[in-house]
Amino acid sequence: MAAPRLIRTEGVVLRRHDLGEVDRIVTLYTRHLGKVRAVAKGIRRPTSKLGGHLELFTHSQILLARGRHLDVITQAETISSFMGLRDDLWRASHAYYVAEVLDRLTVEREENQALFSLLVTTLERVAVARRPDQAVRLYEVQALDLLGYRPELRVCVQCREPLAPDRMTFSPTAGGVLCARCGDPRASEMLLTPNALKVLRLYQDGDWLTISRLRIDDALARQIEEVIAVYLRHVAENGFKSSEFVAVLRASPSVPNAAAGRPA
Ligand SMILES: [Zn+2]
Repeated sequence: MAAPRLIRTEGVVLRRHDLGEVDRIVTLYTRHLGKVRAVAKGIRRPTSKLGGHLELFTHSQILLARGRHLDVITQAETISSFMGLRDDLWRASHAYYVAEVLDRLTVEREENQALFSLLVTTLERVAVARRPDQAVRLYEVQALDLLGYRPELRVCVQCREPLAPDRMTFSPTAGGVLCARCGDPRASEMLLTPNALKVLRLYQDGDWLTISRLRIDDALARQIEEVIAVYLRHVAENGFKSSEFVAVLRASPSVPNAAAGRPA
């Protein structure tokens, strides 16, 4: 049976670029089709009915028509535009990173409804949470899980023995934590403190309420960020531009709210 010509679904805009005089190519992560690149024809005309409904990070109901090369977005209606991201550069930088991670880790037209839900929930949290960085860490660990890259954090990934708190290391290539006997101190593995492992396990459990109440100091937050970043880089095979952007913002005294944990 041929695929239907018209598909109604929900999508979040991950990326956009202009095409010709008035069109735009939009990369969406959709509930029913996974990642899709589609043309929004005439969207840059002031009279376009699509205008405003396909802004970056906007969650919209969309109607897609199958095209010969690219699909065409024929209708779009905003469900949520996550207002908290719109006038806050610190929060927006985290949203850029969330979108980029998803774009880099996924291929087109592979449905993953759980991942779509995680994306929407994460943008809601990044828009309002006291610590958007923690919402992003939770997202990274959960997204890795949903894409089949769940790191082993409960036992040694090599010998499967329970982990003792002495000299544990995280190995991106092995995909988890190594015990003192299995870890190679000369290799690229990263030392992991018992507290960092505890928090990583909480991210893996996915309990946002508990996580959002944690008091994580900057040093611990950096250690966890680094471990996840190295593993993500290993999975995606190179760096993410927008995580560097977050780091630049954090180092910049002129950007308000750019402390590691945004002040309440
Ligand atoms: Zn071991």
